[in-house]
Amino acid sequence: MAIFRFKALETQFSRTPVKVNFPKELPSEYFGENVFEKTKMQKHLSKEIYERITEAIDKGGRIDRKIADQVAVGMKAWAIERGATHYTHWFHPLTDSTAEKHDAFLEILPNGDKFENFDGEKLVQQEPDASSLPSGGIRNTFEARGYTAWDPSSPAFIVEKTLCIPTIFISYTGEALDYKTPLIRSLTALDKIATETCQLFDKDVKKVIATLGWEQEYFLIDEALYKARPDLMLTDRTLMGHASAKDQQLEDHYFGAIPDRVASYMRDFEIEAFKLGIPVKTRHNEVAPNQFECAPIFEEANLAVDHNLLVMDVMRRTARKHKFRVLFHEKPFKGVNGSAKHNNWSLATNTGVNLLKPGNKPKTNMQFIAFLVNTVKAVHENADLLRASIVSAGNEYRLGANEAPPSIISVFLGGHLSNILNDIEKRVSEKPMTPDEKTALKLDIGKIPEILLDNTDRNRTSPFAFTGNRFEFRAVGSSGNCAAPMIALNTAVAKQLKTFNKEVEELSQSGVKKDEAILQIVRNYIIDSKAVIFEGNGYSKEWEEEAERRNLTNIKDVTESLKHYKAEKYINLFKEMNVLSPREMEARYEVRIEKYKKTLQIESRVLADLALNHIVPTAIKYQSSLIENVKGLKELFSPEEFKELASARLVLIKEISQLISMIKLKVEEMRKERKKANNFENCEERVAAYAHNVKPYFEEIRYPIDKLERIVEDELWPLPKYREMLFAH
Ligand code: ADP
Ligand code: MG
Repeated sequence: MAIFRFKALETQFSRTPVKVNFPKELPSEYFGENVFEKTKMQKHLSKEIYERITEAIDKGGRIDRKIADQVAVGMKAWAIERGATHYTHWFHPLTDSTAEKHDAFLEILPNGDKFENFDGEKLVQQEPDASSLPSGGIRNTFEARGYTAWDPSSPAFIVEKTLCIPTIFISYTGEALDYKTPLIRSLTALDKIATETCQLFDKDVKKVIATLGWEQEYFLIDEALYKARPDLMLTDRTLMGHASAKDQQLEDHYFGAIPDRVASYMRDFEIEAFKLGIPVKTRHNEVAPNQFECAPIFEEANLAVDHNLLVMDVMRRTARKHKFRVLFHEKPFKGVNGSAKHNNWSLATNTGVNLLKPGNKPKTNMQFIAFLVNTVKAVHENADLLRASIVSAGNEYRLGANEAPPSIISVFLGGHLSNILNDIEKRVSEKPMTPDEKTALKLDIGKIPEILLDNTDRNRTSPFAFTGNRFEFRAVGSSGNCAAPMIALNTAVAKQLKTFNKEVEELSQSGVKKDEAILQIVRNYIIDSKAVIFEGNGYSKEWEEEAERRNLTNIKDVTESLKHYKAEKYINLFKEMNVLSPREMEARYEVRIEKYKKTLQIESRVLADLALNHIVPTAIKYQSSLIENVKGLKELFSPEEFKELASARLVLIKEISQLISMIKLKVEEMRKERKKANNFENCEERVAAYAHNVKPYFEEIRYPIDKLERIVEDELWPLPKYREMLFAH
């Protein structure tokens, strides 16, 4: 019965690191070699075209067809020189992964002439038949046309032998069908408004970009063990499995020595990442056994999102080469830590200032305080939206599950910064300050960097933590596209800054001096946002109670959380900021709930299949051997002796029967609930039925299975166990 499992274990334990021909050059020598970035453009484009395109990239202007044609010629020459034979538009549909459709450069004319062709038209726009990608009802299948359009702000790159051109993906009617379109729109809105805010402090600021540094957590599992677990193969997580006697209790994995085979894998994918211009910088073991993390140097947010998706792809491919599988699921193993994708976010100006980093002059520090407080206020007022942007079937097992940020959105600032804000609140009032008071306050604000330096305490239980020079949105799940939380955050902050700019202007016009107007408004915001600031333990029960008193929402249910995509407040927000139209929002809502439902549906089917076809027969087999054994005892011993000797086994036989019955009963009940759920016409009702009537069975079915795993003879157990999957590298 368990031959498959033992075979898997055998292959796994005989595994040595795969031989890789690592390059002799230093990373700085091959960094970006597969990217068509500025140095390559310079080489392959005329000076004029080069200048026009870089200007368009830096300032976000339009590129006309004539220029596109010339860029295409240069791009093609570079790609062919590097061995590319195909090209593709590379985009981010709402599936959370990337999409591509490769076309050969090769063209054959009717007269038989053959050549490599690629022009501006092919660069700028394509029309993939994308009728099978989710659109939330925006595209009707009969006109399943969606366009991909070139995004020159993210450079083209080569993977294997294909030139990949980052593009947005929109419907025939111009609506966004992807993550990139609204992300770019949100960055544009933020740029415009944050630049206006900066101008209150520094007239030299002409552009503001959002910066993103993601930290990608993941699990590695040996390929042979992975293939022996249908649940991992089909759902990316284990639907059953008894906890290993030892997992993360000893805290000996975090930052521990990286095992050879894993280190070799990391090195290999990092080399590929470097060639693609992805500045991966940090690698380490994470808390759970076989869990790791990779983090780059931060970049402009649009590029950083592209790079995250690309690196996930590179990691998947490289893992296969090393006979591993990489798991990006938020909770592949019950009872050990899940995986996140922390989004470190900040704002930077064209003058080289990080707006969330305290400076060393009172003026720049006032700017820092303004951006900090506006961000806190935006998070407070848009907590439900931020949460909705990151919930998913997988992340539901992390959020609020006592080892990851709770489903209450709060902000951690650290004791020192909180004190500074309290101080501003106390010292500023609506009456004009005396020159002495003002000077004293400015002096104190000027001292912020000294206080903060080396004083940024960490709070790993906070979903949104200030970490000295950026905010870290820690609640984001490991598998998704981090554009979703970035769109929500950029838009919320842009809207908040817009209000701030307006209030400063109004107050200044009423005769209050500008710097005092700023202080007064900042003070009001500090008072307004107090409820969202929390410095304590986010996992504690007391926080849940305290948060309720503070009127902070605590939504654990995915379907409830997603409903905020339909809330008027957020529909208006996205409309006002020109990021998503009401129709696009509605479509996104539908795609998200539908995906949630489908995930539960698949998990439910796989669970039932494993329970009935793998676990129950195994339990029966073991039980039969016990029955045989008891029969033998009866033949050999006197009735009194038999009674004494067989009693424990008889209890076990009975227990197995009960567990089997329980599994069968619950699987049948779950099947009926699924059927009922599928019969709902209305999509929302269907999803709710899956969430509330089908999903609870997952635990009920898992419980007897995990019990059986402890009872049934090890040799018979069909699935690799937690202790095997988590400790094999
Ligand atoms: P930790 O585990 O302590 O949070 P890491 O070094 O793993 O720290 O990750 C920190 C991440 O924050 C990196 O990706 C880094 O590039 C990013 N980061 C640092 N400064 C900024 C910034 N100004 N804007 C955005 N991200 C930043
Ligand atoms: Mg971090």
